Amino acid sequence: MDIKGKTVVITGASRGIGAEAARIFAAAGANLALLARDAERLSDLVEETGGNALAFACDVSQPGVMAAALQKTQEHFGSLDVLINNAGVIAPIARIEEADPEDWGRLIDINIKGVFNGIHAALPLMKSGGGGTIINIGSGAAQNPLEAWSAYCTSKAGLLMLTRALHLEEGGNGIRVLSLSPGTVATDMQRAIKQSGINPVAALDWEDHIPADWPARTLLWMCSQDADEFLGTEISLRLEHIRQRAGLI
Ligand code: NAP
Repeated sequence: MDIKGKTVVITGASRGIGAEAARIFAAAGANLALLARDAERLSDLVEETGGNALAFACDVSQPGVMAAALQKTQEHFGSLDVLINNAGVIAPIARIEEADPEDWGRLIDINIKGVFNGIHAALPLMKSGGGGTIINIGSGAAQNPLEAWSAYCTSKAGLLMLTRALHLEEGGNGIRVLSLSPGTVATDMQRAIKQSGINPVAALDWEDHIPADWPARTLLWMCSQDADEFLGTEISLRLEHIRQRAGLI
């Protein structure tokens, strides 16, 4: 897919991987809809990326708000071609026995139900335009339990199944479905992890993390047919051959 003139929705676009993806997709000529809770950061980003973007200050865990944002996006640009479900949180970092049940559930609301909300709203809009691409941001945490990350690991394991279920149901209906596990990335999320000091990920040095433009550039490649062999799966940026295919090395 040539992304020029296509409409791309990015959740969690106010900072980190999402903000970097907004810069990369804007430079490639996409129409953008940027979603996150921080209105000020979003409006700064709209200005920085040249203005061909809508900003929606919203919480992905609210289904009605998500549906309205995606509907407005399609009405404004005339299509909805790509949805990148990137918004996610790591908190609560707490052992199961000590975790606050409300906080634990709140993470699930954002990291899994928030993604479902985006997909549920996007599908009819994409299908009315002949198809589209949906990319979820997964994590190696889907495969590996880590101390004090039960909520996060559970959410990313559940999200991987959501990716696979979506591919099963809609892969034959013109919806390209993929997941990206980015490895560790130098963002605010890793700052919070470092501060917790609790497990081997917290012990990593800052230099161990890849820059946010790596996953951002990979997301652009995933929108192209060159990535079609990976439909329905989660690809990992830890793997050298994926880095090569995405043009990073
Ligand atoms: P980040 O710097 O902490 O950014 C997270 C983004 O999600 C922010 O834009 C935040 O914006 C948004 N967000 C959080 N809760 C939201 C909500 N309820 N509604 C709307 N937006 C919300 O984290 P990141 O490292 O870029 O992470 C992006 C994705 O990559 C996440 O799904 C994360 O799990 C995944 N990931 C990251 C790493 C890593 O090492 N960094 C590794 C593997 C996977 P607001 O606060 O303005 O709402």
